[in-house]
Amino acid sequence: MKLLIKNGRVLNPATNFDQVADVLVEEDKIVRIARYIDENADEVIDARGKFVMPGFIDLHVHFRDPGFTHKEDIISGAKAAAAGGVTTVCTMPNTNPAVDSVETLNYINDKAKDAVTNVCQLSSITKGMAGEELVDLKAMKAAGAVAFSEDGKSVMDINLYYEALKQIKDMNALVMAHCEEKNLVKDGVINEGVASKNLEMPGILNAVEDIITARDIFLANETGVRLHICHVSTEGAVRLIKMAKEMGIKVTGEACPHHFILSDAVIDKDDANFKMNPPLRSEKDVKAIIEALETGVLDAISTDHAPHHEDEKSQSIKSAPFGIVGLETSAALTYTALVERGILSPLQMAEKMCYNPAKILGIDDMRGRMEEGMIADIVIFDPSEEVIVNAKKFRSKASNTPFDGKLIKGKVNYTILGGNIVFDSCKSI
Ligand SMILES: [Zn+2]
Repeated sequence: MKLLIKNGRVLNPATNFDQVADVLVEEDKIVRIARYIDENADEVIDARGKFVMPGFIDLHVHFRDPGFTHKEDIISGAKAAAAGGVTTVCTMPNTNPAVDSVETLNYINDKAKDAVTNVCQLSSITKGMAGEELVDLKAMKAAGAVAFSEDGKSVMDINLYYEALKQIKDMNALVMAHCEEKNLVKDGVINEGVASKNLEMPGILNAVEDIITARDIFLANETGVRLHICHVSTEGAVRLIKMAKEMGIKVTGEACPHHFILSDAVIDKDDANFKMNPPLRSEKDVKAIIEALETGVLDAISTDHAPHHEDEKSQSIKSAPFGIVGLETSAALTYTALVERGILSPLQMAEKMCYNPAKILGIDDMRGRMEEGMIADIVIFDPSEEVIVNAKKFRSKASNTPFDGKLIKGKVNYTILGGNIVFDSCKSI
């Protein structure tokens, strides 16, 4: 199978390559990139005026499988990923059972063979994510866990966590941290601020996130472990990550579109589609996240795709579960909010969504780059098309998004996974 992509704007952040070129794919690899390629291909895509980028790598999604497959499962989650141009996802372990055993990990990896995205499954750090006893971290790594995380919460027992980080460092593995001081969050449901006051709802302080971000950074300094801070939402956490990088601590950070687009000022009614964890913060925090993406303090854009059933999200903010979906809107939201406004260049968008995530995962030898010899995971993105978000049309089983009905710019036209077209916006595949 030969696939020829003609006249696209090819973006390869690894080499700062940003030029109109043709791309030839044979079987599962990119075999040639040149201004003009004349080749009898089985399929030719005209990508004039479009970005041709490495497939997006989303470091943070929840596919709810096993245990909560009424919200999402590996197959439906992967379809949502493909529709969003995402060719690799990191799935978080807070399923039921949690991903704390080789058996559960094997179940996911087996099912993921039929998925239209690469699934990199994380292991939890403690058994049942109960925070009391460590998982057999070495066995999980040997069975294919790509990293370790207690996402959804933090391991609050600092000595247990310190022990885990030492073991993860010894394996030269990666830890991804959801930073939340459980004792301080109490029953908070949205940011402590303007909306929590107006709606009379219990608030979540910035310090909930900042304190554990600081703890984890200093533990990474002690142990030497590679630490990735998930869904950074506060100015304080940004400052801490900047400091850590200046100190030479091995830390990276990600931000989600909702945290660089929306502040808590938009929550003017009791609508649980605005409830996520961490919550939408103040305008000042939103500015800090944008600046951190611009200056490179934050390395990656992820979604924290967190599907829930409509019945769950139609409840009051006070009782609904935390989380929103994000896979199918992430690229266009990023383009609209950051690239079109001149904050990031198209090349930097590809850096935050493809190349840096690949480096963080250690898979940049084969993925995250538009170069000859790489696996042909590619997204073709039209930056000129305007789209009104229609959550009912999502491939995801869920539609819980605060962006429904919003006009955004940019559309994924094709997603190519290992040389195969797994999403084509003109066909309903
Ligand atoms: Zn989280």
